[in-house]
Amino acid sequence: MQVVRTRAGLRAVLAGAPRPIGLVPTMGWLHAGHVSLVERARAESATVVMSIFVNPRQFGEARDFEQYPRNEARDLAMAEAAGVDVVFAPNVDEVYLPGFDTVVSVGAISLPLEGAARPGHFDGVATVVAILFALVGAERAYFGLKDYQQVAVIRRMALDLALPTRVVPCETVREPDGLALSSRNARLSAEGRARAAVLHRALRVGAERLSGGERSADTVRSAMRQVLGEEPSATVDYVSAANPDTLAELTEIDGRALLSLAVQIEGVRLIDNELVG
Ligand code: AMP
Repeated sequence: MQVVRTRAGLRAVLAGAPRPIGLVPTMGWLHAGHVSLVERARAESATVVMSIFVNPRQFGEARDFEQYPRNEARDLAMAEAAGVDVVFAPNVDEVYLPGFDTVVSVGAISLPLEGAARPGHFDGVATVVAILFALVGAERAYFGLKDYQQVAVIRRMALDLALPTRVVPCETVREPDGLALSSRNARLSAEGRARAAVLHRALRVGAERLSGGERSADTVRSAMRQVLGEEPSATVDYVSAANPDTLAELTEIDGRALLSLAVQIEGVRLIDNELVG
């Protein structure tokens, strides 16, 4: 496995690399969710590139950016074991060159849910992913559906800007109690970690209401809120039952729905979702 930190270094190692190239963009603090993306990329690519870059432009508060967990030595060992060929781990100045002054801003799909809760977040995501797509020139890039809206935003961007990299969505990897793996889970105490299972429980209750014949989106959202309410340490950011294509909130659910939620536990913001129908 080769580790490169500059645009020139990346260009040099990829010049003769066997194709197709599969790209797995990450912010590090790797876990089994990231590894599942690498495994999928490995199965479909001759060269697997992982980027490890904590992108300051997608964080609202400087403190959240600073507190994001980092451990490069551990990440590199995990990436190599998972079958990554090239790690691109640039400094901030290597991604955003001096005088950098461009924003990629995706429209309506980036406005609700995470976009509403974290203004500017998806501009930061779309901008860095556009740069990574340009630098790596991969045939495919792999993203987790745990960040469902992120996948939707990047797909829209790739389509609208005619970017040649195909976006491949991958299933969410979970702990045995249902908690979606996330680098942010590392910031929870053992007790907070146990309490965080409430996110998945709430989604399951919402999904069960739907499979039981419930059609009112309000009733489904209330049922999820009630489960979250039983966990006093959980502060609810939003609870949603939305159209999976537009992410607009539903009134009646008579087909597919994206159930999603954002909750803070011990000051750590956790998100999860389930696609139903
Ligand atoms: P991050 O390092 O959190 O920016 O995540 C990098 C990629 O891994 C994103 O495409 C995430 O959606 C994906 N990812 C994060 N957690 C999981 C998970 N539990 N299962 C599958 N993919 C995940």
